[in-house]
Amino acid sequence: VTGPRGAELPELALVRDLLERLVRVESPSQDPEAVGRALDLYARALEEVGAELRAGGRGEAETLVAEVAGFRQAGVPGARGGDDATGGIRRPFLVVGHLDTVHPVGTLAGPLPLREEDGRLYGPGVYDMKAGLAVLVGALALLRRTGRTPAHPLRILVTPDEEVGAPSSRRLLEAQAREAAGALVLEPPLPGGGGKIRRKGVGEFRIHVHGAPAHAGIEPERGASAIHALGRVLPALLALADPEAGITLNVGRVQGGGPVNVVAARVELTVDVRVSTAQEKARIEAGVRALGEPWGVGLHDSRIRIQVEGGVDRPPMEPGEGAWALLARAREIARELGRPAWDAGATGGGSDGNLLSAAGCPVLDGLGVEGDGAHTFEEHILLEDLPWRIRFLAELLAGLEDPSLS
Ligand SMILES: [Zn+2]
Repeated sequence: VTGPRGAELPELALVRDLLERLVRVESPSQDPEAVGRALDLYARALEEVGAELRAGGRGEAETLVAEVAGFRQAGVPGARGGDDATGGIRRPFLVVGHLDTVHPVGTLAGPLPLREEDGRLYGPGVYDMKAGLAVLVGALALLRRTGRTPAHPLRILVTPDEEVGAPSSRRLLEAQAREAAGALVLEPPLPGGGGKIRRKGVGEFRIHVHGAPAHAGIEPERGASAIHALGRVLPALLALADPEAGITLNVGRVQGGGPVNVVAARVELTVDVRVSTAQEKARIEAGVRALGEPWGVGLHDSRIRIQVEGGVDRPPMEPGEGAWALLARAREIARELGRPAWDAGATGGGSDGNLLSAAGCPVLDGLGVEGDGAHTFEEHILLEDLPWRIRFLAELLAGLEDPSLS
């Protein structure tokens, strides 16, 4: 038993039911209609617990924006300062999630059916991150039942495209982040249940090497092999990694060449890059771009051309004072709820938290439900974690303070 010993939690059934309904609506990022159906279902669930819909939730793959009124104290000087200066209206807190998943439609009927097994609930997107969103509805229901109000107005943002880098929701997230006191992100927690306070920046580069084709037997000297040029490009690229400093890279795909008896005219590399700080982001971007100068990597054949595209699209999530203050408050709340060891840490994976943080908003991420197997056919949550998560999120919403006022 977690939380107050033996206490009933009527919201648990609500969360479980909503979660199963959300998982049954498969919602791959690439299928806007399907994602729209999941957003629509979720919008109705939010409305039932008192949230007001501002945008989205009409069956389209458009970011859902909903608001929940927060504590107001018009005209009364706030004990912690700021309430009076802002006319009694506190800045909103963002609560952020995504309803798209990486699993194509058919996963549910195929390799990853919705099922409970050994205390685990399996299903596409259950862990990343429909459970986190279902818990939010449970937390709001809990606050309502107990007659409490969030400490700040809440702006709930649920995006349709996080798994593909937030192309349509990015600007909205950044604009909202600039106005907000802070943001809670409902992505899965760290292994063991901890939150996420630091995320690596994520980039993708495409490096095209162009050479000159020729017959490999008759006149190879007329050709300049793009693939042989890789022998110079690849070591120079890999030398940019600095795992100690948090810079890693992975050439995940190589495409090019052709018939084996032809000097290869082109080859293309796709590279995933992770960085821990904004400084390293600048360093790696400059380093990869410099590969576009073939003589710089010892290629002296003017027929070899190298083209570099891409960059670090999701900046690193680096905690500032505001994020540390949010975490400190969250740790107090976790302790009060019986988990004194709860803390937050770092991960190499990116999320919408990266965009919010880079826009200057203090972010506490990884507030979803414990489980494992994100992006695989083993994806599941631990059902026993649900009650604590509902209580924890409810207390966070009720007890968070604007870090800029403390
Ligand atoms: Zn996710």
